[in-house]
Amino acid sequence: MIITIDGPAGAGKSTVSRALATRLGYRYLDTGALYRAVTLVALETGQEPLAVAEAGAWRERLLDPALRSDAVDAAVSGVSCRPEIRDALRGAQREFLAAGDAVAEGRDIGSVVWPQAELKVWLDASPEERRRRRAAERGEEAGETALERDRLDAAQMIVPPDSVRVETDGLAVDEVIEAIVQLAEERA
Ligand code: C5P
Repeated sequence: MIITIDGPAGAGKSTVSRALATRLGYRYLDTGALYRAVTLVALETGQEPLAVAEAGAWRERLLDPALRSDAVDAAVSGVSCRPEIRDALRGAQREFLAAGDAVAEGRDIGSVVWPQAELKVWLDASPEERRRRRAAERGEEAGETALERDRLDAAQMIVPPDSVRVETDGLAVDEVIEAIVQLAEERA
């Protein structure tokens, strides 16, 4: 089964998706890491981001801690908004998902990348909660940047019409995971 977890920054996608994948014994795909890796290599080398995306050197940086730097946070939306870059990265995402059971998180996985997913979740939280979570993880400025990124990412954030919306305000991570596991069991 493919489970997609899409939604805005700070909604809890990464924490929930990772734990869900572990719980189900599924593979985990963090699609934001692809856009971040392309952005990081472009910033480091001065290369045009499209050339970076097409060359594939970004693949070696998918686990680099620098993906989470303020510089990448600030630049990534300007890279991910370009349709030709999204095209260049879509194949790798589909290839991963075609191999079977996985939890994939992002902005457009259930809508564009893998609309045939068996379970699509739209994970959301109030702006106050999203700012607070990011600030707690990475400082006040990161809290503001997360909300700014949502504004810049708006065109890419596509709620699939057949998704289940999960509001995470006031819910513990375990409660969110439990709710999604239950949905998955219903669809298995
Ligand atoms: O999920 P994360 O915050 O790490 O994503 C980083 C950035 O990558 C987002 O702000 C967005 O610009 C881009 N992104 C995207 N489509 C996705 C996943 C991420 O455009 N499916």
